[in-house]
Amino acid sequence: MVIPSATEITRDLVRIDSVNPPGREEHCADYLGTLLQAGGFEVDRYEHAAGRTSLVARLEGESRKKPICFGGHIDVVPLGEKPWSVEPFAGDIIDGRLYGRGSCDMKSGVAAYVHMGLKLAREKCAAADVVLIMAAGEETGCDGSKYLQTLGVLPDAGAMIIAEPTSNYPILGHRGSLWLNATVHGRTAHGSMPDLGDNAVYRAARLITNLEDFKFDVAPNALLGTTTLNVGTFHGGININSVPDKAIFSIDIRSIPEHGHDEIIDSLTRKLGEEVEFERLVDVASVLTTADEPWVVEVFDLMEEFLGEPPDQRGAPYFTDAAALVPACGDPPMIILGPGDMNVAHQTDEYCDVTKIEEAAQMFEAITRRWCEL
Ligand SMILES: [Zn+2]
Repeated sequence: MVIPSATEITRDLVRIDSVNPPGREEHCADYLGTLLQAGGFEVDRYEHAAGRTSLVARLEGESRKKPICFGGHIDVVPLGEKPWSVEPFAGDIIDGRLYGRGSCDMKSGVAAYVHMGLKLAREKCAAADVVLIMAAGEETGCDGSKYLQTLGVLPDAGAMIIAEPTSNYPILGHRGSLWLNATVHGRTAHGSMPDLGDNAVYRAARLITNLEDFKFDVAPNALLGTTTLNVGTFHGGININSVPDKAIFSIDIRSIPEHGHDEIIDSLTRKLGEEVEFERLVDVASVLTTADEPWVVEVFDLMEEFLGEPPDQRGAPYFTDAAALVPACGDPPMIILGPGDMNVAHQTDEYCDVTKIEEAAQMFEAITRRWCEL
């Protein structure tokens, strides 16, 4: 079997439309599953809903060490309102950039570790298993990886790479997400006699104003900054001529590891009062690997050759599948490292530099060779 290059695999994946919603990751999963199986991987498919396929591919080693895992997602975000100047599902390469939806976030990252896996599968007797995870439904809240976590089918890993866009710079973690609906109640009355009611929209509006300059009382994390809050939506009332008896607003909180989500809700309750009811819509913890972890020291050492200087310790502003995959794999040390540029993710005319895709495959190979003693 001729192993396609990481760039060729990226191109093939971009040509398979996996916009989420609806997702339809099964077609990407079919393509990757066939490739990996032919290359000697054992491949398992898991559907969290019809057509929503996640893949786990395993290359068996001698189990002298725990497996090294690579993780990523195969769904992509919708195209957006603005028209594209290139065909979004063609994977055209123009001036060294491979264009298309998902080229940056993150079919290039998946392609780079799939290529690496196929290449190393030709060598026998690795010290450890190599496990590749390709999850569905990440962009709508890590649905595929959470499903894998629930099923308990992932291995107890010794090391993990998440290939989300970092421009091939190793990143040690990211903040958690706590998304809340906040409900405020009032008492309805006819719109012509507002004095008889208690207007829930006025109540909620006053509370939201209190949040505009609100700062959580927590010391910042050196890599991830501090916990932040944003009110994203507001809904109140049913019709114009009634006093509204209910208003709901949603709050997006990004949390640092030192700041538990129960504690965050407690401090919001203290600030806003007991009248607000909170409902958790998304509740996932932050992930952060310490730089003195022996494997991280090893990876940073290897990265120095590619980057030309020792990497700094950095965190990412965005959220990844690591939130579900790290606990599902027994909390191994984890690094986010992938070829895409995070500033291009989710954009019109999304692209990835071809040299970055090939470099990512080489980085993954160097890291895996070290772990698997190849
Ligand atoms: Zn992504």
